[in-house]
Amino acid sequence: MDITNAERIESREIPCQDHRLNPDQAMIDTRCVVDLSDEQLLRYGRQILLPDFGIEGQERLAAARVLIVGLGGLGSPVAMYLAAAGVGRIHLADFDRIDLSNLQRQILHDTDHIGWTKTASACQRLARLNPEVEIIAIQSRLSTESLRVVVAQVDLVVDCCDNFATRLAINGACFAAGVPLVSGAAIRMEGQITAFSGSSGGPCYRCLHPSEVHEDRTCSANGVLAPLVGIIGSIQATEAIKILTGLGTPLYGRLLLLDAATMDWRSLSLNADPECPVCSREASGSSGTSL
Ligand SMILES: [Zn+2]
Repeated sequence: MDITNAERIESREIPCQDHRLNPDQAMIDTRCVVDLSDEQLLRYGRQILLPDFGIEGQERLAAARVLIVGLGGLGSPVAMYLAAAGVGRIHLADFDRIDLSNLQRQILHDTDHIGWTKTASACQRLARLNPEVEIIAIQSRLSTESLRVVVAQVDLVVDCCDNFATRLAINGACFAAGVPLVSGAAIRMEGQITAFSGSSGGPCYRCLHPSEVHEDRTCSANGVLAPLVGIIGSIQATEAIKILTGLGTPLYGRLLLLDAATMDWRSLSLNADPECPVCSREASGSSGTSL
């Protein structure tokens, strides 16, 4: 978009994200003035021009706080697209360091950064991509308790991790806080994506995997086609932006499955498990939420 078109987009008052999230404050001051700079209009102009996105959508992204768990093959495109799109604050959680074997698919990281922590590498890359975005690095293995503390500080979580135990912990923390969760996974030439609203009554990730015991299938043992994680991660980023801005219809209650060998997609309905120990109304009414 050139500056002439940018100037046609008028700044106006819209609900402030912080006030939207705090009804008590909203009673006092429900609106904040939006005044995007010419540079911001140029940077984000292509998405501002989208129907149902506009300046309101851009402001919602700027006010949004997102947690990305895992900075590998899925986390790479998720972090880059959310930063490039202008999400205001991104919390990046990963305890690992970059290995040569990561670089085939983890495009957030460079050959020069082998041995760096993934969070340090990501911070440098994302700051170059969009210096307007606030990046908070969490360079440690998140415990159940610390995960709940971080999740309570954000508006949305994107699960890009590679193990079942962490996925269950993220799911439990998101439902405890009522925070939407975008989940993705990829291995060999197969991928899946879904999203959960975080609302009581589900469904949630635990409904999808009722057993607490699940054998992890790792890319190191099974292999993975590099662009597959890019496809799945890009859809996760798309869903995150949709949920944060109210654009389109989220993948709530639907599970997308991709077989990249045939490039066949399937969309399955995902129903809440009435016996789910995390999201069922019985669980919500109990004293605690099981992971
Ligand atoms: Zn559930």
